[in-house]
Amino acid sequence: MTQSAFRLSAALGLAAATLALAAAEMKWPVHDRTRPKPRVVTPGSFSTPEQPGKPPSDAIVLFEGKDLSRWESEKAGPAPWKVENGYFEVVKGTKGIRTKEGFGDVQLHAEWMAPNPPVGKDQDRGNSGIFFLGRYEVQVLDSYESETYPDGQASALYGQYPPLVNACRPPGEWQAYDIVFRRPRFRPDGALVSPARLTVIHNGILVQDDVEPWGPTAWLQHAPYTAHADKLPLAFQDHGNPVRYRNIWLRE
Ligand code: MG
Repeated sequence: MTQSAFRLSAALGLAAATLALAAAEMKWPVHDRTRPKPRVVTPGSFSTPEQPGKPPSDAIVLFEGKDLSRWESEKAGPAPWKVENGYFEVVKGTKGIRTKEGFGDVQLHAEWMAPNPPVGKDQDRGNSGIFFLGRYEVQVLDSYESETYPDGQASALYGQYPPLVNACRPPGEWQAYDIVFRRPRFRPDGALVSPARLTVIHNGILVQDDVEPWGPTAWLQHAPYTAHADKLPLAFQDHGNPVRYRNIWLRE
């Protein structure tokens, strides 16, 4: 295809998408009161440093401070991490944990705390991570006045997208991630239809704005997408550092 033909086809594609959007909007006259109403969800409450907030009424609560019954070891068997005082803590050398259930497109809320006093530096300082579908990692790391490579600091999409800003709180303080994750779509033959998409709010601050991972996250490499199931467990990383988590819920 010549460059001008490519531009023309791209422009036509955009025009078609715009028309499709207009058609969807015009299905309902403006302010039509017979239009289906959004269902009611009772909002939760915000967390304070001392007290985790409450999840919204339609959330799937993955951890509310008591037990890891919805989780298992990534080696199979019960989740081996420590649960106490309303949080759970990574136990070094036990490997990661994952949800028993699989999830695809989600809104996730998770709070975490890096060890205080801080121990280690760079990637060995409060390192853990949240893996959507077990493959796409939003980094958890103590990046408060601590240097590392930008695409590996807290709230980076690991190895791909640094956060827009460093919104880290000091170690020993609770921090919140609110993440909207859309899974990649594959054709039945395994070809990629659309990449994953990800928006991350760290401590109330936008740090990933609808970015598109170019494949699973990995150390020192860019791996391409390979087809996988629509729903897979959410996994948390054991990177050998005693990071704590509390108040974890998601909405599908
Ligand atoms: Mg990590």
